Amino acid sequence: MFASLSDRLTSTFKTLRGKGRLSPADVDATVRQIRLALLDADVSLPVVRQFTAAIRERALGEEVSKALNPGQQVVKIVHEELVRVLGGESRRLHLAKNPPTVIMLAGLQGAGKTTLAGKLGHWLKEQGHSPVLVAADLQRPNAVTQLQVTGERAGVQVFAPEPGNGVGDPVSVARRGVEHARARGHDVVVVDTAGRLGIDEDLMRQAADIRDAVQPDEVLFVLDAMIGQSAVETAKQFDEGVSLTGVVMTKLDGDARGGAALSVVTVTGSPILFASTGEKLTDFEVFHPDRMAGRILD
Ligand code: GDP
Repeated sequence: MFASLSDRLTSTFKTLRGKGRLSPADVDATVRQIRLALLDADVSLPVVRQFTAAIRERALGEEVSKALNPGQQVVKIVHEELVRVLGGESRRLHLAKNPPTVIMLAGLQGAGKTTLAGKLGHWLKEQGHSPVLVAADLQRPNAVTQLQVTGERAGVQVFAPEPGNGVGDPVSVARRGVEHARARGHDVVVVDTAGRLGIDEDLMRQAADIRDAVQPDEVLFVLDAMIGQSAVETAKQFDEGVSLTGVVMTKLDGDARGGAALSVVTVTGSPILFASTGEKLTDFEVFHPDRMAGRILD
């Protein structure tokens, strides 16, 4: 069992109890604990280094030396820095001035894109929008049917390739899906795209072609929180391939500590917009950096 960051800090601070101030050696010991805890939470090493350097600087500063309880002050700083790195305030969806707004979902197979498309559609409808889901994942058997089932459950229309036409061209389906939305007065289009088990050039080229065809307002990287450290490399490649504008974390109902969130935001510079916390349509929320910081800390 790994001790949580809070546990680690508490035990570090026990040895400091009674001390009015933290010496540089105390700060170093504390920063070491923070570093270990972040690594346990799957934050990547370069990100941990960057983050702990910022903490160290603040922990050696006046706000801590003047604090009545320096230990608590350091915990507060760690929390604040986590929130800052995770984007501060929740970022809202960018909506197009001339609808429809196009949201493209990208990510590895199994990340939860198709599931998310349904949830997003459901949520958008609740927000008063008239969304349509476009089934442009023609790679994974059943992805189209799965989206149709999810869409039906969510009460959201799904644009899918006509059956019987072979595999079809995902770029054309995506383009026609957006045209369909415009013609029918839907104001938001969610385009589900294919993923592979790992990154490959074909996948990335296809995703880039879809992006060029539909000119999305948002390109959301769907990230399985459980994949841990490898998230960084995957996110980087998707960012290079299709220029991500945001991230959605999925499977946060699992026991992942969510450190991948911190790494991915740092590496791509893209904020997290939404979190998926289960398989039901309603297991979906607007992402709050503050809550994620709490999750990583506790
Ligand atoms: P895709 O290949 O990216 O379209 O992934 P899917 O949407 O098909 O999801 C892959 C699997 O993960 C499915 O079994 C989903 O039910 C499951 N899944 C998706 N999102 C979540 C989530 O937030 N929590 C959990 N526990 N399972 C999820």
